Amino acid sequence: MLNRLTQQPPDALLALIKLYDADPAPDKIDLGVGVFRTESGATPVFGAIKAAERLLVERQDSKSYLGPEGDMGFVHRLMPYIFGDRHDSPLLGGMQTPGGTGAVRLALALAKRAGVTRVLMGTPSWPNHAQIVADLGLELVAFNHATPDGVADVDALLAALGDAGEGAAVLLHGCCHNPTGVDYTPAEWDRIVAALAAGTVLPIVDLAYQGLGAGMEEDAYGARAVLAAVAEALVAYSCDKNFGLYRDRVGALYWQGEDADSVTRTTSNGYALARAAWSMPPDHGAAAVRLVLEDEALTADWLAELEGMRDRIRSVRQALAAHGTAGSLDLTPYGRQQGMFAMLPLTPAEIAALRADHSIYMAGSGRINIAGLTPGNIDKFTGALAAVTQTVVA
Ligand code: PLP
Repeated sequence: MLNRLTQQPPDALLALIKLYDADPAPDKIDLGVGVFRTESGATPVFGAIKAAERLLVERQDSKSYLGPEGDMGFVHRLMPYIFGDRHDSPLLGGMQTPGGTGAVRLALALAKRAGVTRVLMGTPSWPNHAQIVADLGLELVAFNHATPDGVADVDALLAALGDAGEGAAVLLHGCCHNPTGVDYTPAEWDRIVAALAAGTVLPIVDLAYQGLGAGMEEDAYGARAVLAAVAEALVAYSCDKNFGLYRDRVGALYWQGEDADSVTRTTSNGYALARAAWSMPPDHGAAAVRLVLEDEALTADWLAELEGMRDRIRSVRQALAAHGTAGSLDLTPYGRQQGMFAMLPLTPAEIAALRADHSIYMAGSGRINIAGLTPGNIDKFTGALAAVTQTVVA
């Protein structure tokens, strides 16, 4: 039986890490993997998380099973940040998941159980979105997320919503769109939620970078506007970036139902799906987040650290935009986009030349991790961009 399996391509970004590690160039630049980096290239553990982990070691007196819902203290403590004034609405439910990936997976599996057969999604998107949609046997209906001049193609989204018919869900990035960095403005969200309110498409908001765009409140605008406008919606959340917990796999899925009974039934289906998939989520990271959020001083430390990350990302964006152009590339749109990622409109030959001639590593799609740039390497980067876009013929 196993002999029938066909070879799957290796994860391209993981292969890129190996190439980068093997490159002896002292001034090599890693813009591949999507983790935050400080100006010295580190991805440190948050001080607030370290403190919470120490508390956890002291206070935790059992590692007995919790249940498919995970740490509900964690799930509830996050809710004011995500939902604002509506956080204690009886029409909201939620559970812990293994990372944002687990939350997206569970959201789509729940949607499928509820009768969804098609998922509308702006492309390009985080590659795992399409993989999960395909793995669940759902149909992907793609539309352009952004226009070539680097703003959101809201008309394409509205057209997709208008054509959707019954049995459709739409997957929306709450903020810091991966990979384009092109977010909806509040006015654009308002147009989108008006269309959602008028139709039958189930919104699924993927909020994986809250606090890394314009601010914790600002980054929640879209998710909150959607929930205020429609009766039913799902929100997939990740704490892996905004608490720096990547490998600890910390996430949550929330749902809004049209009445209490529907919320109860959605909850039971969420638990059943989790039980069959991973039984229960890993505890450690979520417990650490809960301890941070239960303590005012640790919460203030976390928010200050997050603000530092956000400021660094924004300052790299401003520095790129200040360069104006690099060869044939206009860098100014990157200044008004948000989050850790940007797409460079480079050809495969240009991306290969950046790697071979300048030791600059980025995804084959042209996505760069903004946090891989620093005041010390940004001039080399823009110089290399100018060199490859002037000399390499596509
Ligand atoms: N959603 C988006 C848009 C992402 O970019 C990511 C991670 O890169 C995730 C969800 C999942 O995050 P994680 O599973 O690491 O929490």
